[in-house]
Amino acid sequence: MAETLIQPKIRGFICITAHPTGCAAHVNEQIDYIKAQPPLPLAPKKVLVIGASTGYGLSSRIAATFAGGADTLGVFFERPASNGRTASAGWYNTAAFEKAARAAGHYATSINGDAFSDRVKAATIERLKADMGPVDLVVYSLASPRRVDPKTGEVYQSTLKPIGQSFSNKTVNTDKQLIQTIDLEPASPEEIQATEKVMGGEDWALWVDALEQANLLAPGATVVAYSYIGPEVTWPIYHQGTIGQAKAHLETTAIALNEKLKAHGGKALVVINKVVVTQASSAIPVVPLYTSLVFKVMKEKGLHEGCIEQMHRLFHDQLFSGQPLTLDAKGRVRVDNWEMRPDVQGAVAALWPQVETENLLSLSDFKGYQQDFLKLFGFGLPGIDYTQAVEADVTLEGLLNLAES
Ligand code: NAD
Repeated sequence: MAETLIQPKIRGFICITAHPTGCAAHVNEQIDYIKAQPPLPLAPKKVLVIGASTGYGLSSRIAATFAGGADTLGVFFERPASNGRTASAGWYNTAAFEKAARAAGHYATSINGDAFSDRVKAATIERLKADMGPVDLVVYSLASPRRVDPKTGEVYQSTLKPIGQSFSNKTVNTDKQLIQTIDLEPASPEEIQATEKVMGGEDWALWVDALEQANLLAPGATVVAYSYIGPEVTWPIYHQGTIGQAKAHLETTAIALNEKLKAHGGKALVVINKVVVTQASSAIPVVPLYTSLVFKVMKEKGLHEGCIEQMHRLFHDQLFSGQPLTLDAKGRVRVDNWEMRPDVQGAVAALWPQVETENLLSLSDFKGYQQDFLKLFGFGLPGIDYTQAVEADVTLEGLLNLAES
């Protein structure tokens, strides 16, 4: 592909273009942040990240590599450049991450394909056996709208709907910068079940079983999956909605997996992360408005964190601190504790009824939200000349690409 000018093309809550050098700069910002933090001598040295190309999974991979010195295998579902289209952001992110990881002397390769499939699981096992051996950390960080059940071939779509009753609240139309009312009808029993199939714990357990059966979980291995709770204003659409029900299933799965792994000194945990701007979170109604408000409050209080700050704090203060884990009453690790502080939530609750289109920019950090959103796709990064044409076709060395065939 010839060099080309790449500009953001936003369609609703996604951007259909991505900028290779901008994505690389975004990844390098995260690497630089990690390098400036205390190292993690107790962190694992062999890490598998499922959902490794964007958001929390990418930041977990960066923290494991550049603070923990880990070798990593990443699994994700991304798109290379073709027919005049840019690659997806996660493709470019991975190219930049792997280049930096290898330059620093760490093993880093990836598998592109559907993590829900038996084929990708088998290929992951094969590659781990060949290159890395048993892993001591598995991060499960998938966010997907659909899943094909590998046993039945049935396709399940996840939905973002309330359960039991309809829900109406404010939301921000991020494209048009307008506060609007959103009305959502309750999910049907089939939609609730389908969302659980996609975002619940079934696939996580299949991964852990497959790794265990292949003797690829090291003694004492930690297995984590990420979840979110958030404030009551988002509960009808999140915590108590279809996605929350799926996350409840993830938590039940964690208890069962933990029992199993305990026998070899290992553990399975659900980690509750804070809200951040990712491709997944920008698709959830109401959440972007709440995010803009909580960013404003947390920045004013000096508490703001993005994915990389959260993942370093998770590794440093909790998972690999050498101290016993601090768990909540349901056995979960909470790195959303700053977001959920009563003073933070009190301030957001006071702003919520006041925020309107006219005062969106003064009452909330919608600008910060938009900047983070563009950065996800490599736009708005300092030091990048977006008027220069760039090569969109970027090769991922050593990639096993199972997405095409
Ligand atoms: P994201 O959209 O940035 O990342 C999703 C990852 O999953 C990407 O690497 C993508 O390639 C991969 N993926 C999606 N479908 C796949 C498939 N079929 N096969 C292989 N890979 C696939 O999402 P995120 O926001 O980082 O979410 C990751 C986890 O963190 C989710 O469990 C989410 O609920 C949780 N979480 C997110 C937030 C938030 O505010 N974003 C807060 C708390 C918890």
